[in-house]
Amino acid sequence: MPELPEVEMAARNLRRWLAKKTIVAARIPPSRILRGASPPEMEQRLTGARVERIERRGKWLRLTLSTGTLWSHLGMTGKWVRRAPDDEEKYERARLDVRGASVRYRDPRMFGRLVLSDDEMPEWHTLGPDPLVDGIDPRALYERVHRSARSIKEVLLDQTVLAGVGNIQAAEALWRARVNPTRAAKSLSATEVAAIVRGIDASIAYTLADEAGPEITYVEEGGQNPFMVYAKSGQPCRRCKTRLRQIRQGGRATVFCPKCQAKRS
Ligand SMILES: [Zn+2]
Repeated sequence: MPELPEVEMAARNLRRWLAKKTIVAARIPPSRILRGASPPEMEQRLTGARVERIERRGKWLRLTLSTGTLWSHLGMTGKWVRRAPDDEEKYERARLDVRGASVRYRDPRMFGRLVLSDDEMPEWHTLGPDPLVDGIDPRALYERVHRSARSIKEVLLDQTVLAGVGNIQAAEALWRARVNPTRAAKSLSATEVAAIVRGIDASIAYTLADEAGPEITYVEEGGQNPFMVYAKSGQPCRRCKTRLRQIRQGGRATVFCPKCQAKRS
């Protein structure tokens, strides 16, 4: 599922393919991912637009165009891909052609969003610090979470606390930091929060290096699983060989090592 690293890869690819180029043709078939303008309006405003800038914050992409702003959220199964002009793409929800590239947005399950708007998106401004764009200040994160009775796993998924961390990166960071995912955030010391920050930074860097390339296959669609614990319940822990366990928290699965991430007494 797309989280910060996957959306960052999308931003890097889109910059390579589209930045400073003019969209010569746009095809936007009607679908439930669209917001802000009708499909014909979108096609009209995108055609001839120059792509000035592509930014990412959390799981959102912002494409600043000469004719407005295009916002993209990949939802659960969305991805931006480059294809030959004649290629048919199944699940295509948008097509942007520039000279030398035909860029498609594909999204089988359609939980993504594509918004063409002149207004700012409120979501963009309520996001917490982005680990790559802003960096995470361990002290500030400790101050933000140390009164929360929620579990640290759930707090890390809150996009107003940190932008872009989702179910995968939270589980990976907690394993790297050796912190039990059910611990109440308020029970964590500043040292443990600092270890979680290092865990997030390390996990994002690792995932980016692993996934670098023009197209990602998400683990959920049968791609290789490069992660330490995510979707690896029952497999041996990479550090101590104990079998990893899966629990549910707030409706989401969390995998962890019962030994390395034991709850302190
Ligand atoms: Zn272990």
